[in-house]
Parts: sequence; C-alpha cells; structure tokens
Amino acid sequence: MFDINTFSNKLKQYSEGIPEKYLSENTIKKLYTVCSELEEKSKLFNLTAITDPDEVLKKHIVDCLFLAAEIENWDKGSGKVLDVGSGAGFPSLPVAATLDDYSVTALDSTAKKIGYIKNTADLMGVTDFDAVASRAEDAAKSEMREAYDIVTARAVARLSVLSELCIPFIKVGGYFISMKGAAVEEEVKEAENAIKKLGCKFCKIVPYTISDLPDKRFLVIYKKISSTPALYPRNYSQISKKPL
Ligand code: SAM
Repeated sequence: MFDINTFSNKLKQYSEGIPEKYLSENTIKKLYTVCSELEEKSKLFNLTAITDPDEVLKKHIVDCLFLAAEIENWDKGSGKVLDVGSGAGFPSLPVAATLDDYSVTALDSTAKKIGYIKNTADLMGVTDFDAVASRAEDAAKSEMREAYDIVTARAVARLSVLSELCIPFIKVGGYFISMKGAAVEEEVKEAENAIKKLGCKFCKIVPYTISDLPDKRFLVIYKKISSTPALYPRNYSQISKKPL
C-alpha cells in the first residue's frame, strides 16, 4: 500500500472530472483508511477480486467518487442513502467519506462483509453510518421500505432484476442511481417495464471515464413517482427467473 502522500497524489491524478471539493484532506484520510483496511482484511477473507493498490484506487475509489458527486445533483430530501449489495463497501464507504451531511446505510446478504464494512466505517470515523446484513428482498418488507431518498447499487445484477431489489426502498420523490458498464443501453431497455411497474420514471444516463482506464462507465438515474405495489419484491428465484 502507498503512504498517504503518494495515495493523495495518485487519487488527485486519477480524479480528473471530479470537483475539488470532493477531495478535501479529511475525505482523503477516510479513503486511505478504506484502501488500507481492504488490503489488510483481504488477506484474511475474500472481499474483492481487485487487490492491486493502483487498481483499487481507480476501479473502486475514483469510480465511487463519480457517484458521490452525482448524488449531490439531485434533491437531497432528508439525505438518507442506501447502498444495496455493498460487498466490501462500494460505493457506500467512499460515499460516506465524501458526503458528510448524508446518512449512509450499506446492505448486503453476507454478514461477514457487513461486519467488515461496520468496522471500516468506525475506523474512518464516519458517524451517520449503518450496515445491515439481510437479503434485499427481506429488508424491503421491513421498516426500511420506502425509507430512503437515494438508493445506489454497483455490480449486483442486471437492471431488470436490480430494479426490483432496489426501488421498494425509495421514498416517493427519491432517486435510484445505479452504476453500469458498456451494456447500459440494452439494460435500460430491458428494464423499462420493471421500472414502470415498480413506480419509477427514467431521468438520465450520465457517462464518465476514469483516467487511464479505457472503458466507459455510466450512472443511470430514475425518479420514484409512485409507491411500489406491496407485491414487490417477489422472492429471488421469481425475480431472477422472470424479471418484470
Ligand atoms: N457493490 C459491490 C462492488 O461493486 O464492489 C459488491 C458487488 S458484489 C459482485 C455483489 C454483492 O451483492 C455481494 O456482496 C452479494 O452478497 C450482494 N448481493 C447479491 N444479491 C443480494 C441480495 N438479493 N440482497 C443483498 N445483497 C445481495
């Protein structure tokens, strides 16, 4: 792992396109903790396929900073963000490091990963942070239903499936922002029916690229305009076998 000065310089170098206000000293310190912890704990159990520090910086940290910056472009509401299928804390931990005045919750079905995220958030010193171990389909039937202003997800499922896992958590008037790769147009088309049935409307696709990486990435944004019918989410085998 780099020392903090090298980390800071590299982070700034790779963050072309991200406004400077998202790279304060305080945020950089927290992001450094995210990377150090990931490196340490990856030796103990499987957290992420990406382990090279330079790759972690670009593909995990900078990628999630683009999302954090985009979140602030939409109505904040009460500032409650939920990250579905957070894994090793992406994007939940970088978002919490960057957006001080939002409250962030990470959700994942793997209790071990949630334990890791909680511990890392404590070490970062983020205060308004929670991490919940549950399947999204179950949590969406609890008091977490329609309780969040913004719901995010990265690398969890195709949009047609992901929308049923995420949209039930969003308050009417809130937003669903998913992080997608090259197949974005196809996924958006395929999810059209699900999006409508679950109570959302399409807003826009925001393209971005990370310095030194060839691939284009996208943020897909939907607004929730009506309550999700109680029928959804269905159980996971139905969702995945017969997307809406
Ligand atoms: N979002 C992280 C990232 O981009 O690095 C993790 C991506 S990982 C490929 C997918 C994660 O989603 C896994 O940690 C898995 O446990 C979680 N997951 C998949 N389906 C889920 C569900 N139905 N409810 C909750 N978590 C789920």
